[in-house]
Amino acid sequence: MAQTIVKAGTMSAVARTFAIPLFFGALVLAHAAPAQGDDSKNDPAAHPGEDAGVPAPAPKEEAVVRASVQMAPPKNDSRALTITTADGRTATCREQTAQPFLVRGNWFPSSKDPEIIKHGRKLLEDAIKYRTSTYGYFEGFGSRKANPHPPKFYAKPTTFMGLTVQVHEKIIPALKCVEAALKANGAANEYKPRSAGGIRFKNTYRGVEVSNHVYGIAIDIEPDRNSCCGCVAPWPNHPLCKAKHKTVWERMAMPKSWVDTFERYGFYWLGHDVLQDTMHFEFLGDPDKILDIVKS
Ligand SMILES: [Zn+2]
Repeated sequence: MAQTIVKAGTMSAVARTFAIPLFFGALVLAHAAPAQGDDSKNDPAAHPGEDAGVPAPAPKEEAVVRASVQMAPPKNDSRALTITTADGRTATCREQTAQPFLVRGNWFPSSKDPEIIKHGRKLLEDAIKYRTSTYGYFEGFGSRKANPHPPKFYAKPTTFMGLTVQVHEKIIPALKCVEAALKANGAANEYKPRSAGGIRFKNTYRGVEVSNHVYGIAIDIEPDRNSCCGCVAPWPNHPLCKAKHKTVWERMAMPKSWVDTFERYGFYWLGHDVLQDTMHFEFLGDPDKILDIVKS
């Protein structure tokens, strides 16, 4: 049974974001469920790297969306970006935040109050149902009736910042929006990752959780340089994690500008979580609200 010590700063960031301070009052959180980390997970030998799961098969199709880094005409939001979809349409990127019931930190409240714990489990159940119907059925979680296909049925290769990743087709436009924004706001010049990982075909969490990697909605950015100090060994022994008095931002190569940019387009950064999984972003927004088609 794993217990994870949580720093107050990490906790309050989550609480501030999702306004559920009730869950985050304690300085120390003992997970009721095992917290294994979403990167490095059950297979220490596979760490560090996003290849802890079964490798993705070779790309089978062209990327469905091409990015173009042009600013949309100034409207209400001068930061609005457009991308060009694979079928040649111009679309505006819509900003959105993660849906709170999909956020991992909300499933495991620190309280001992049975009602609060029950509520957290209900959110996890809801999240599994939602991910199944929206992204595919993963064996052992949810019902096949909600979706006849596994997530890999919907997986497609795409490129992100020059790196090939395979993800659920529904979130490719969101990645393209992040890429366009990183280029438009200059963050692309601050950091150039050399690797990235997307869908996996094996659940790398233990217990009641199922990783967003199996749904194809999570992406790891340069896993060997962006730490996961709350993950299973050997991460806690990594020099970046051993270093005292370092903030989570100092234990990663990726700059904060990247985190901020991802979060504008519905991605949740697992660096906020007790796992401090700084390499990991998961799309927890509404996939139907990623784009507005403005021109055919
Ligand atoms: Zn990950």
